[in-house]
Amino acid sequence: SSEKNKSATKKKVVVVGGGLVGSLNACFFAKRGFEVVVFESREDIRCAKTVKGRSINLALSHRGRQALKHVGMEDKIISKGIPMHARMIHRVNGKRSPIPYGKKGQYILSVGRANLNKELLTAAEAYPNTQVNFNHRLLDWSPETGTMTFLGTDGTEKEIQADFIVGCDGAFSATRKQFLRRSRFNYSQTYIPHGYVELTMPLRNGDFAMEPNFLHIWPRNTFMMIALPNLDKTFTCTLFMPFEEFEKITTDDELMNFFQKYFPDSIPLLGVDALKRDFFRLPAQAMVSVKCSPYHLNDKCVLMGDAAHAVVPFYGQGMNAGFEDCLVLDEILDQFNEDFSAALPEYTRVRVPDDHAIADLAMYNYVEMRAHVNSKYFLFRKYLENALHFIMPRTITPLYTMVTFTRTRYHEAVIRWQWQNKVINQGLLILGTVSTVGLTYLLIRYIPKKPSITVEQLWSKVLTLKWFQK
Ligand code: FAD
Repeated sequence: SSEKNKSATKKKVVVVGGGLVGSLNACFFAKRGFEVVVFESREDIRCAKTVKGRSINLALSHRGRQALKHVGMEDKIISKGIPMHARMIHRVNGKRSPIPYGKKGQYILSVGRANLNKELLTAAEAYPNTQVNFNHRLLDWSPETGTMTFLGTDGTEKEIQADFIVGCDGAFSATRKQFLRRSRFNYSQTYIPHGYVELTMPLRNGDFAMEPNFLHIWPRNTFMMIALPNLDKTFTCTLFMPFEEFEKITTDDELMNFFQKYFPDSIPLLGVDALKRDFFRLPAQAMVSVKCSPYHLNDKCVLMGDAAHAVVPFYGQGMNAGFEDCLVLDEILDQFNEDFSAALPEYTRVRVPDDHAIADLAMYNYVEMRAHVNSKYFLFRKYLENALHFIMPRTITPLYTMVTFTRTRYHEAVIRWQWQNKVINQGLLILGTVSTVGLTYLLIRYIPKKPSITVEQLWSKVLTLKWFQK
């Protein structure tokens, strides 16, 4: 009978936005037995001829997969994903070198955004207690009454009553407007100076034009291009560059000169005509980073996904963090027996530091991907961290591994990373000092007496020292 009472008091949950996080979240709430209604402003992408929107494909990793697993969607999605085991760095001279993402067997998956969204919408609709409405744009809502106003494509306004509102309506969230009107709501947004354009790399002799199981990167310090594989054997290349550089390229000749100078190996693969067509098809898109707090408004509303934390795309974590949001709220609802008035403040308390941390990390990786990977010292540090992780996996775990292949809380990963850096730097300093002192000693001790000593002789002397014989 307690089950009966529970279902009798189940709230009507309205999810605003049927994008990636909204459609997954609908599954989470439906699984809990709530009456779920999704309102999405676009038409149904499963019937649409062209799907407008952002990146064509995305990198899915552990956090996102865990959330998909919770609603039984993991296998379905990974079967349509392409594993990427390493970054493939393309130098200007055409030389390529891989940098693995983690240990053997660890990889991220390139998944198509449209297919992922379609599958999640279909999964949400499969719950008998869920309904998805398209062509409904949220205009505003009342925190006092829970009344929501939607605008239909035919220009009519509709009022809907909700017990609980989940704002998953993306970086420019309309749900968030009510939060902005309240006192003690912190909000910041930053546009980075870079924009992006997407280019399609077609098949070559019926196959992938480059090695498929890599995330290809052309790092050029102040800008970069990346490429992720698609199921149809094309690649989607994304050029990230400051807007002021994009503005300098206005003609086909300027475009070709630019590619010839910085990405010569990509020209034959992209095809000159396709490159010219794709590049000028759309203006460069902007990227925004949004941070806010709290994520809940009384026990009436919560913001999740990009609505709560749009991040720049350089850690490949925006969607993964949004999917993990669903999992974290679900865990907290379990903990608090679905008492929203207790669970929501806890959700804000737990999740804000983590989502703020991934926003900062994504900004940091923005520089790492386009510039640091060109530095020998950086590569040495990456290999050293991986080697140390191999020797003592519990003490040293590379930051990328913690973020991408574990559910270590994002803010804890940052703290651990800072501590590890300190330890490794001190280790290197001690090692450097010891070797310098040692070498100096040897030079002073042996060279003046035996000026004709060879390196080999010097080394055999070193090996006969007591310390090495222990
Ligand atoms: P969105 O995907 O923006 O969905 C919001 C939905 O709400 C949309 O369907 C929209 O139509 C709807 N909506 C908006 N306003 C209203 C309204 N008023 N009423 C009703 N509906 C509304 N993340 C990764 O994890 N890995 C990656 O590799 C990766 N690569 C990226 C590359 C680029 C270039 C970009 C820009 C982002 C990338 N991301 C990546 C981030 C990822 O795209 C987002 O984090 C993710 O899409 C967030 O999902 P969301 O559902 O919160 O928001």
